[in-house]
Amino acid sequence: MPPPDSTAVGTPLDTPLDAPAHDVGTQGSPRDAEECWTRVQEALRARIVPEQFDTWFLQARLLVVDEPETGLEVSLAVLNTYTCDWISKYYSPAVESAVHSVLGQKCRVRITVDPEATVPPAPAPRESRPPLDSGPSAGAPPALAPGAGLLWNSDVVLNHKYTFENFVVGPCNRFAHAAAVGSGERPGKNYNPFFLHGRVGVGKTHLLQALCFSILERDPSARILYLSCETFVNHFISALENGDLDGFRTKYRNVDVLVVDDIHILANKERTQEEFFHTFNTLYQAGKQLVLSSDSPPKDIPTLQERLVSRFRWGMVTEIEPPCYETRMAIVKRKSRDQGRELPDTVAQLIAEQIDQNVRELEGAVTRLLGFSSLTGKPLTLELAREALGDLLQANHGAPTMDDIISAVTSKYGVKLSELQSKRRTKSITHPRQVAMFLARRITRHSLEEVGGFFGGRDHSTVIYAVDRVSKAVRSDPEVRKQVEGLLGRLGAPSDGRL
Ligand code: ADP
Ligand code: MG
Repeated sequence: MPPPDSTAVGTPLDTPLDAPAHDVGTQGSPRDAEECWTRVQEALRARIVPEQFDTWFLQARLLVVDEPETGLEVSLAVLNTYTCDWISKYYSPAVESAVHSVLGQKCRVRITVDPEATVPPAPAPRESRPPLDSGPSAGAPPALAPGAGLLWNSDVVLNHKYTFENFVVGPCNRFAHAAAVGSGERPGKNYNPFFLHGRVGVGKTHLLQALCFSILERDPSARILYLSCETFVNHFISALENGDLDGFRTKYRNVDVLVVDDIHILANKERTQEEFFHTFNTLYQAGKQLVLSSDSPPKDIPTLQERLVSRFRWGMVTEIEPPCYETRMAIVKRKSRDQGRELPDTVAQLIAEQIDQNVRELEGAVTRLLGFSSLTGKPLTLELAREALGDLLQANHGAPTMDDIISAVTSKYGVKLSELQSKRRTKSITHPRQVAMFLARRITRHSLEEVGGFFGGRDHSTVIYAVDRVSKAVRSDPEVRKQVEGLLGRLGAPSDGRL
């Protein structure tokens, strides 16, 4: 994120504005705080360029001025965590100096997220929004009723590390990353809905949150509702119990962007699916952006109503693959650099080779290793990595590898590895090649690109085709089924009858 454009941040004024104001607001009465805030705003305007002031401070409100034993303290209420973090990061000195200039003495500024306390925005000239106090808001959570323009993350605090800049892009996630960037650029227009799916720990939540940040960066007043699907389900159930469906609907349908993480949780929840269907339609018809993530593509979410499946496919459905080796290396290096240490190549390689399932584990391994090294004072060597990460490395050890698959397939079908990797397309070669690709996807964590790479640099669509073909054949052809079951058994990964 670029630093904000500000002037004279942190430059204390030599003389306070007006008279010294020790008494202003020290009783904490709202009027005094209000008066104090008006003057602090004036002082802030003198320190910050007008656009930045309008963006970050127009809706904020100074709540209390207090003087506990530790010294004078004021608290500033802001709309959302995003604003809170932004002001803390970039404007603390400006705020402190502005307050100092008004109160005539140094004081600590606490920034708190309190949407209810903030000032509703003036009617936006750019875009028409529903009236701020519209709707049957009595039963709705306060955060959305009066406050347009907030990141209302009911159960989730957005993680500031989850930005596009911090996301390592590789072949496995390039497309998903580009689609997320595109959705954030023109919410409701480019890809709607944006449906992102992939296994656990591959970066779905990271991209979803990065998308929210990118929208807020362009338009801090965008009303983004970000939540886990579980929260949606729970809110719906309590709205049913409390007879407050109107409040529920007001809340969910008056937003510019609805982001629901882990939407596969809707599986087997008939009534919630029904409600979500209507939420989806209302927002979609109003041109609002919907962003969803899931552990599987829409059609594979068990019992998901067909009409939801088809709606989820209206926009952009994209998969994030587990990262390939090179991406894993880049992630390991980035994560250690972020923590202020450079890992030697051999150590980074060990981690990237052994932990290939999940970026979260990869990250955990780096953190654990660095922590271990600084605790024990030992240098970052391969030996230390094995000592610190023993169990993590072991957990990934023993699963069949590509080599195991290739040797099982070549001996079963009497073909050579070079033939599997060749361009030859006779059935006696293509069938074993496709079975090998199927097995690789089934029992290893290699990405489509990696599997394609093992078989003579074929691209991912060839692998998708092969997997699809073999999946169908095991269902329709008992001979193929027998072959595949035999191979799985030999590789120590029996099918348990679930082919
Ligand atoms: P998911 O939601 O798919 O289960 P997350 O988004 O929670 O996965 O990602 C798990 C962790 O891995 C997070 O800390 C995230 O920042 C990190 N991560 C995942 N992919 C990447 C990537 N490509 N670059 C950097 N960090 C990543
Ligand atoms: Mg997630």
